Amino acid sequence: MDMGAMICTRSKPKCELCPVNHSCDANALGRQTDFPGKKPKKVLPEKQACFLIYQYEDQIWLEQRPPSGLWGGLWCLPETKETEIESTVLQVSGGRDADIEHLTAFRHTFSHFHLDILPVRVKLSQQPTMVMEAQGGLWYNLTQPEKVGLAAPVQKLLTSLTRELDSLANAI
Ligand code: SF4
Repeated sequence: MDMGAMICTRSKPKCELCPVNHSCDANALGRQTDFPGKKPKKVLPEKQACFLIYQYEDQIWLEQRPPSGLWGGLWCLPETKETEIESTVLQVSGGRDADIEHLTAFRHTFSHFHLDILPVRVKLSQQPTMVMEAQGGLWYNLTQPEKVGLAAPVQKLLTSLTRELDSLANAI
């Protein structure tokens, strides 16, 4: 007999029919429905990523991920380490003025880990070409968005940047 399916069900255990009811502690204590307890919540590992949002006027620089792996084939923002933001920006901007702004960090959760994302917006005074062309990618126009597959947190950031542009336009 399948005790779990026929007798000791989670919501309505049939203790009066149970062959082990005399030796069952849950039965003796009247706490049949307390067992088994809920599975402890799985503690997911935490990872961090710094997303660089290069913005030139209404355009944001995106790069396509390799076909396999995390966000395979989708378009994402370039990533860097938090400690390397300034040096990376300097390399891309070619030493020209770049306005660096830390935006609100947020968490994106995958089935197997949490990703804490620190978005950093870099407003460029000129559109750099050399470094970016070497990496491949596209300038995504917030006012006339390309129909490309975007990673979910990137979509979230682009939507909020588009809203910001709209509210600036409405304020004029
Ligand atoms: S007596 Fe214990 S093992 Fe048997 S059905 Fe009740 S709770 Fe389950």
